[in-house]
Amino acid sequence: MKTAVVTGGAGFVPSHLVDRLLADGLRVVALDNFITGHKRNIAHLEGNENFIFREADVSEPFEVEGEVDYVFHMASPASPIDYVQVPIETLKAGSYATHNSLDLALRKKARFLMASTSEVYGDPEVHPQTEDYQGNVSTTGPRSCYDEAKRYAEAAVMAYHRHHGVETRIVRIFNTYGPRMRLDDGRVVPAFIGQALEGKPLTIFGDGAQTRSFCYVSDLVEGIWRLMQSDCLQPVNIGNPHEMSIKEFAEAIAAATGTQTGMKGCPLPEDDPKVRRPDIGRAREVLDWEPVVSFDDGIRKTIDYFKEFVG
Ligand code: UDP
Repeated sequence: MKTAVVTGGAGFVPSHLVDRLLADGLRVVALDNFITGHKRNIAHLEGNENFIFREADVSEPFEVEGEVDYVFHMASPASPIDYVQVPIETLKAGSYATHNSLDLALRKKARFLMASTSEVYGDPEVHPQTEDYQGNVSTTGPRSCYDEAKRYAEAAVMAYHRHHGVETRIVRIFNTYGPRMRLDDGRVVPAFIGQALEGKPLTIFGDGAQTRSFCYVSDLVEGIWRLMQSDCLQPVNIGNPHEMSIKEFAEAIAAATGTQTGMKGCPLPEDDPKVRRPDIGRAREVLDWEPVVSFDDGIRKTIDYFKEFVG
C-alpha cells in the first residue's frame, strides 16, 4: 500500500484529493493547522484506518513516520480576503512550508507535487495563458504575498529537483469551485451563491467585464493525480477553459438559484486580473486530461452544498 502525505489536507481542494487517494487504495497522512481549512471537510473520514490526520503548521519543520511515496504540498491560504487577513502566513506557506515539504520528500525519497496557481501569471498580457508565459505580477501589491510566494515555491521545487534530484511536479491551478469552499472566503463563487441564497444583491466588483474560467473540483483532482503519476517535470495548467465575464457569471448564478436579487456595483480591488483562461494544451498532451463536468452540473452541486450553510 502506497502512502501519500497531503499538506493542508482539511482545505477545500486538498480534502477532495484526500478522498480520491483513499478511494484509489492509498494510505493518506493529512496535515493542517486549520488556518483556512476546516474539520468538517474531513469529518467523514473519522474511523477510516487508512487515514491519519495531524494538526500541524507545516511552516514549521515536521516529520512523518514510516515510508512515504508521494508528498502533495497543497497548504496555503488562497483567496484575496486571506491575503489581506493572513499575509505573513501566506508568504510562509509558499516559502518555509514548501522547503519543509520538499525536505520531507528528499528524506523519504518520495515524489513531490506542489500546488501552484494561475496567479503566477498575474494580470496577464498573454491570453489564454500558456505555461511558458512568464507573467505580469506586482511584487508589492495586495496579492503579492500569494503570487510571489507561489513563484518562489516553483523556484524552490526546481532547485530541489536540479540540485537534489527530487522527482517533482508543479500544477498551476486556475479558479476552482465546488462543495467545501468556505462561504465567507470572499471568492466570487461562494460570495454570489451565498448572496443569492440570502436574498441579497450580487456584489459585482468593477464593471464585471473581467473574465474567469471555473473548473469543478473533481476535474482538478483528476488532473492533479494524473500529473503526480506522470513523468512531466514542467508546470502544467489545470483549469477549465470555459471563460465568462463576472457579469455573465452573476447572471448564471441568479438563473441557477432562481433568484432575482439584482446586482450591486462595488470598487474593483487593486491588481484584479482583467482576464484569465488556461491554455490546457499541455495537460491534454501529457496527461490526456480535460475537464468533463459541465458548468451547470458543477454549479448545481455547489449550490446544493451551500444551502446547508445559509438561512
Ligand atoms: N468578484 C466580484 N464580486 C465578489 C467577489 C469577487 O465581482 O463578491 C470578482 C473579482 O473582482 C474577480 C473575480 O470575481 O475579478 C474572481 O474573484 P475571486 O476572488 O473568486 O478570485 P481571483 O480569480 O480574483 O483570485
